[in-house]
Amino acid sequence: MKRIAILGSTGSIGTQALNVIRRHRDRFAVEVLCAGGNADLLIQQALEFEPNAVAIADETKYPQVQAALDPHGIKVFAGNDSIADLMEMSTIDMVLASIVGFAGLRPTLRAIEHHKTIALANKETMVVAGEIVTAAAARNQVPILPVDSEHSAIFQSLVGEMGNIDKILLTASGGPFRGYSRAQLEQVTLADALKHPNWNMGRKVTIDSASLMNKGLEVIEAKWLFNVPAERIQVLVHPQSIVHSMVQYVDGSIKAQLGVPTMETPIQYAFSFPDRIESHLPRLDFAQHPQLTFEEPDTKTFRCLALAYQAIAQGGNMPCIMNAANEVAVQLFIEGKIPFLGIADFVEAQMQKGHFIAKPSLDDLFQTDAEIRQQAALHR
Ligand code: NDP
Repeated sequence: MKRIAILGSTGSIGTQALNVIRRHRDRFAVEVLCAGGNADLLIQQALEFEPNAVAIADETKYPQVQAALDPHGIKVFAGNDSIADLMEMSTIDMVLASIVGFAGLRPTLRAIEHHKTIALANKETMVVAGEIVTAAAARNQVPILPVDSEHSAIFQSLVGEMGNIDKILLTASGGPFRGYSRAQLEQVTLADALKHPNWNMGRKVTIDSASLMNKGLEVIEAKWLFNVPAERIQVLVHPQSIVHSMVQYVDGSIKAQLGVPTMETPIQYAFSFPDRIESHLPRLDFAQHPQLTFEEPDTKTFRCLALAYQAIAQGGNMPCIMNAANEVAVQLFIEGKIPFLGIADFVEAQMQKGHFIAKPSLDDLFQTDAEIRQQAALHR
């Protein structure tokens, strides 16, 4: 029995992870559930899965969650510190890091320091602090198993043959605005950006997919997860989202992982690794997909992807600056304070004026993130 802690259980990844656990109760148990502010769903999940403990970041929700779960013998905590503290529990075998954004970094690092295997969905953790996180994982001999569908595909292609990589071919759906010109992007609304053609995800990652920042974050994530320089990670737009990513080896051979687009497959693979276990999910019917197409991304129009390559080339705290600026910009776009194209403008401006640190410590990264977030106030 693998005992799993879910960081971000009330989100898109968290709820899909609970679907996987519900179907494999003989293998997986929920040890801890953590959420941001959705007390009602957290309570419902806890009553169904009976974890040892739950935590909610929003401290004002504590009385509600405590009153509902205390009679069932489930321990309840509140606040960001308690989420990180819970990662020290000796009864946790694996942590699913599926909080959205920078907020996922601290509890994920704490889990690594306490020798928990990580199933990583929270790509921002790797973007902001890839060097620190991978070093901590190596020091503590902790595996980081990718949950992001592209990285799971790369990982599945690499199992059994980790070396001799020529390059990684990272596929991208292209999002709802694939093929749009700048003039067309000037007209798009929040509702348009939230209509992803293939995936049903949380708001932040859906908007990142529309701007191609998501792919930029994934390039950085892949660099750290697979120790491959960004110049050897090629993004390919593949609108059908069937080939989830590929690895090209030094002899030119390419291995890929394919399947219908559902996050439950990569979540389950991370949970069951090194085993591959049965799934009820729909099978890919090639006859229904007679055309699988691939094209170059348009980085002139979708500048966020180019900015991510720039950030990783500059290194230091630049990916952290970029990530914080993007989190702020996405929020401002959601609030209607900036237009869609303003996301890339905001990120670029912060990258130009942010305080660059070549060898940042963890504290420097927290400081960088806080400084960039202060810029949001100027737009409100
Ligand atoms: P959602 O917005 O759907 O969910 C985010 C989760 O994080 C919620 O449970 C939310 O809680 C919780 N949360 C937010 N802030 C905090 C905080 N400060 N402390 C504790 N919990 C917090 O996001 P997704 O599930 O879509 O994405 C999660 C991560 O996975 C992201 O990094 C994303 O890039 C990545 N990812 C997602 C994919 C997808 O298909 N959704 C695919 C691949 C990667 P609450 O709702 O209770 O406030």
